[in-house]
Amino acid sequence: MITVLCPGSFDPITVGHIDIITRARDLFGSVLVGVGRNNQKQYLFGDQRIDLVREALDGMDGVDVSPIEGLLVDFCRERGITAVIKGLRFGADFDFELQMAHMNRGLTGLETVLLPAAAEHVTLSSTILREVMKLGGDVTPYVPDVVARAIEAWRSEPVD
Ligand code: ADP
Repeated sequence: MITVLCPGSFDPITVGHIDIITRARDLFGSVLVGVGRNNQKQYLFGDQRIDLVREALDGMDGVDVSPIEGLLVDFCRERGITAVIKGLRFGADFDFELQMAHMNRGLTGLETVLLPAAAEHVTLSSTILREVMKLGGDVTPYVPDVVARAIEAWRSEPVD
């Protein structure tokens, strides 16, 4: 069994992310979900993203969650993680992930495994969910219950 890292912003975590995490766990046995914390980025759910990921994945065997700051390759090296797993939805994901994969491999030898998104989640992105949420649309079919509840709370007190 090896541990792979599933990194992302998870702003918020969706059923598409959970599908990739579950399949990665089934393939490799153990997954660390890394929730990126980047000071340059403005997150809608801030640090609450990490709690939402933890609660959404609570009770899943072989799945742990950690915030990630700094360079991904350093985070992996410190923990003995040799591969990251990324979900691939469409061409734009591929173009970006290919560049990142080569950069990370060049930096420390960290490998990248690209897993095709499930057909039913292939068009789902947190970015679009945030836009729909802000405009009052119902995104509950696309998120775990814990996120649906957080969105309800956010609606009664929106941050922007
Ligand atoms: P997004 O791109 O939706 O804002 P993240 O930055 O959190 O999400 O993405 C983290 C990882 O999850 C990336 O590898 C991304 O390709 C993958 N991912 C995001 N949404 C989906 C989905 N619907 N199906 C499969 N993989 C996804």
